[in-house]
Amino acid sequence: MEYDVVIVGSGPAGLFAADRLAKEDYNVLVIDERRSAGGSGTLTDGKLVYHPKVTMDLDELKISEKRARMFMDYIDDKFLEYGADPSVGNGDKASLDKIIERSSEYNVDFIVGKQRHMGTDNTPKIIRKFKEDLESKGIEFKLGTKVDSISKDGNIYVKTDAETIECKYLIMGPGRSGAYWMRDQAEKLDIKHKWGAIDVGVRVELAASTFDPITDVSYDAKFHYNTLCHGDKVRTFCVNPHGFVTAEPKQNAIEYRDRSLRPVNGHSFKRKKSDNTNFAILSTITMTEPYADTTELGRNMVVSAYRAGGWKPLVQRWGDLKRGSRSKIETFLDPHRGFDRVIPTMSLDKITPGDLNLAYYGRFVDNIKEFIEVLDNIVPGTAHPSTLLYAPEVKFYDTKYATIGSTLETNVENIFVTGDGAGKSRGIVGAGLTGILAAESIINKK
Ligand SMILES: Cc1cc2nc3c(=O)[nH]c(=O)nc-3n(C[C@H](O)[C@H](O)[C@H](O)COP(=O)(O)OP(=O)(O)OC[C@H]3O[C@@H](n4cnc5c(N)ncnc54)[C@H](O)[C@@H]3O)c2cc1C
Repeated sequence: MEYDVVIVGSGPAGLFAADRLAKEDYNVLVIDERRSAGGSGTLTDGKLVYHPKVTMDLDELKISEKRARMFMDYIDDKFLEYGADPSVGNGDKASLDKIIERSSEYNVDFIVGKQRHMGTDNTPKIIRKFKEDLESKGIEFKLGTKVDSISKDGNIYVKTDAETIECKYLIMGPGRSGAYWMRDQAEKLDIKHKWGAIDVGVRVELAASTFDPITDVSYDAKFHYNTLCHGDKVRTFCVNPHGFVTAEPKQNAIEYRDRSLRPVNGHSFKRKKSDNTNFAILSTITMTEPYADTTELGRNMVVSAYRAGGWKPLVQRWGDLKRGSRSKIETFLDPHRGFDRVIPTMSLDKITPGDLNLAYYGRFVDNIKEFIEVLDNIVPGTAHPSTLLYAPEVKFYDTKYATIGSTLETNVENIFVTGDGAGKSRGIVGAGLTGILAAESIINKK
């Protein structure tokens, strides 16, 4: 046997799995197709939110809140050890209580958990230290190497274009970029899986001064709401105070004909600041029958938004959406409409002013519109005409795997699934936690 454990993916799920196994006597290899470790995590500004309702789903993981908190404390200590900023992104309790109270008047759940911000400029250094520490403890890395396929015949065989590696246990943590690759493998290996919920939404960008009263006390402000129009869950996600709107990494692109379509996202630096704040509004939808393929639906939304944007991301002013007209380049910065209040941080030649109603199915647009108006009661100015809505923002963590109890072991013995790609997490802390869970399950098999 070459390795006891092979981990596919060096994102937070893979790194925390390796970290837990490094404390025991295992031969561990981490493989990643990227040239540097860290997964999507290293490309992000690394907002760490420690709350059992955020970036994880305890029902899906089948663990208690107490156990989740124990893992979260461990993850926090690790990031601090490797250089994360120790200051906490929450303000005083009285201010937070006021926001909670105001939110509850509008049936919005304002979620307060411990938060830290590593920053796009610092996250890669922190992850580099993490990796070096793992190497010093005997964990091996094979980077710049894509795993092509997995097979099992007693032991497990991990095939790359150069070799086939044999191992006893496999932890798959390929993230959103590898979610479909993993599903293909699952189909071949008879690993049970099904469609889950999908998040489709927009990246909102508004004047930072509007959101400062909130983000000054809760950096990554989490508002959760169920819409009256459709009864769907909507939430704010990935808030970037004084940040920048960007395209997702190319690994997360949707390939369509000869085009590579990258959903939008956002990030913020520790030092460089813009005058705007951005965040996602995500609308979560589960489908049953006759059309249950949430992946295809998500792809359709990405393609449709790009098509409506002339093969660029589409952007619309709230003022235009509200009165039912598309946004146009001629009026995009019109001061008479109040549009000059927010200058987009994504350069205008990379986006197309257009119409969200031509990009997304009505249900998503209804949910987004209702939530913006509700938020405007809690954070006045959210529904200012100048507020920008970028599309597509779609999160592909929609394949769910049946796993045994809280072990994250699939129905195929010794194969474990972790992180966002397996629909087990939705962020760095949650992904890290699933890595620890899978590693502990392997250790418990001894
Ligand atoms: C722009 C952006 C900003 C974000 N900001 C935040 C934030 O502030 N806070 C937060 O909590 N979350 C944030 N996220 C989400 C966060 O990065 C993810 O939730 C987290 O990284 C998921 O971890 P993971 O280990 O499941 O997968 P990933 O981090 O995606 O890692 C998976 C790894 O597997 C590799 N892989 C895939 N397929 C294969 C294969 N076949 N062979 C070999 N390697 C493979 C990939 O190359 C990748 O490196 C952000 C994401 C993006 C894209």
